[in-house]
Amino acid sequence: MFSAVPRLPKKSSRAFFFPNVLTLSRSFVQKSSVNSISLVTVWKFCPSMARSLPCPVVTYDEFSKMMTPMCRFMKPMLSMVPPDPTTLNPKDLKQLHFLLQRFRELSSDERYTLVQLMTMSSADFLDQWFETDVLKATMSASGIIGTYLGIRSPGTAYVLLHHYMGEIDGAFRSWGFSRGGTGAISNAIADAAREVGVEIRIKAPVGKILTKNGRAYGVALQDGEELSANVVSSSVDPHLTFEKFLDPHELPADFLEGVRRYKFRGSSGKVNLALDALPNFMCLPGPGAHLRGAISISPSMDYMERAYDDAKYGHYSRRPYIDMVIPSLTDPSVAPPGKHVLSCFVQYAPYKLAESTWDDQREAFGNNVINTIAEYAPNIRDIIIGRQVLTPLDLEREFGLTQGNIFQGELSLEQLFFLRPVAGWAYYRTPIQNLYMCGSATHPGGGIMGANGRIASQVILKEWKGSSPRPTVAASKASN
Ligand SMILES: Cc1cc2nc3c(=O)[nH]c(=O)nc-3n(C[C@H](O)[C@H](O)[C@H](O)COP(=O)(O)OP(=O)(O)OC[C@H]3O[C@@H](n4cnc5c(N)ncnc54)[C@H](O)[C@@H]3O)c2cc1C
Repeated sequence: MFSAVPRLPKKSSRAFFFPNVLTLSRSFVQKSSVNSISLVTVWKFCPSMARSLPCPVVTYDEFSKMMTPMCRFMKPMLSMVPPDPTTLNPKDLKQLHFLLQRFRELSSDERYTLVQLMTMSSADFLDQWFETDVLKATMSASGIIGTYLGIRSPGTAYVLLHHYMGEIDGAFRSWGFSRGGTGAISNAIADAAREVGVEIRIKAPVGKILTKNGRAYGVALQDGEELSANVVSSSVDPHLTFEKFLDPHELPADFLEGVRRYKFRGSSGKVNLALDALPNFMCLPGPGAHLRGAISISPSMDYMERAYDDAKYGHYSRRPYIDMVIPSLTDPSVAPPGKHVLSCFVQYAPYKLAESTWDDQREAFGNNVINTIAEYAPNIRDIIIGRQVLTPLDLEREFGLTQGNIFQGELSLEQLFFLRPVAGWAYYRTPIQNLYMCGSATHPGGGIMGANGRIASQVILKEWKGSSPRPTVAASKASN
């Protein structure tokens, strides 16, 4: 099918021997159809010529144009039960036919690119497009978020595509802040649900899913209270749902084996800093629009891969990749007047440390992040008035994310689409009747998009249509 020799994308003809800082200004970003963010790559040394440097704008523009049909191709898949090509089920075959038709509508270059995105590493994929190391390093970071893989690991190009699909008003690769913080989104959805009569219990952790004769009939909270329901829909991961909340003996052995093999492998940590003033980056001193976007410490491809090397052997990265935002600049409601919040997403922080425990290493991990930032913004230590360090262990303890994986399980190809969470069970149903899954451990994986819950609710409603009585759904939510 792919015998035609693909036209490889042209690299930018310019050689970029510049320096240590690449600033992608807001105008560059807008030109590249990336709305509402500015992207600044900060490197330690700070050439004064940063602003006058040539940017690979043309290539970036071409790259964005190429990624758009990839995202368009994937988009309908975000709204459908993923068809299983290993079955001869007519429904699956129909959906597969639909996808094949869409695949055929792509140009041969686009088809080839799609296959590359499904198989390559983000580093190799970007190498075909760009020469500038610092730009590739920053862009390749999208391929490793939430995974225990490095930018040179095959499969990470898909993760890059997954993050590219973030869309605001039709523009892909757009990320936004929600006013009041991310929890405001959950609260808005909860308010809308309450308006139509839904009762939501918070701070009510589930301890068990109640079953009888292979059917779920409710949940028991950890405090012993029992809630009965016709349908139980779990938005927590398969480990909690099947190994903690159910007696494993209730499940088929092969299914249980699939659940046990499902990979979590948390790799990220979070450091939130309360600041007295704004950080002052050496490469672009003073306040400015650049501070309102994503600030990425990812100075070179080797830096990124070395950060992973540490993690492979059970250490947090001595020199981590850090993705920072200052939401208080966009949404003053998150900090008192004149103060700021610096939110740092950090990789790598492997769940299993080789020589110590996270309880022992939490503060050292936080200090390492601050020291790394200080290499680029030396005033950082003087302006910190409070800090919160979240290790993968904290993500597990506080948010119920097994092994601290931010996506309730890695977005690696062997556990995506019809394989998520377990081969043969990607239909939001489970081997227990009336028990469904609806969280990011189902297709299409993690991210604040609501897709998993939407598809799951459609499946549930379809199966219960016309049934009597109308289902009451006990959905898992411990906190708001
Ligand atoms: C640090 C971090 C940064 C992230 N950054 C981004 C980002 O920038 N953009 C993006 O799109 N996505 C991001 N994500 C991923 C995104 O938050 C998730 O993919 C998304 O929230 C998944 O939604 P969900 O409803 O499937 O699961 P969750 O949001 O995990 O919801 C599961 C709910 O179940 C509750 N729960 C846990 N245990 C129990 C129990 N025993 N009983 C009852 N309830 C329970 C939890 O408290 C939680 O409220 C990030 C995640 C993390 C952790």
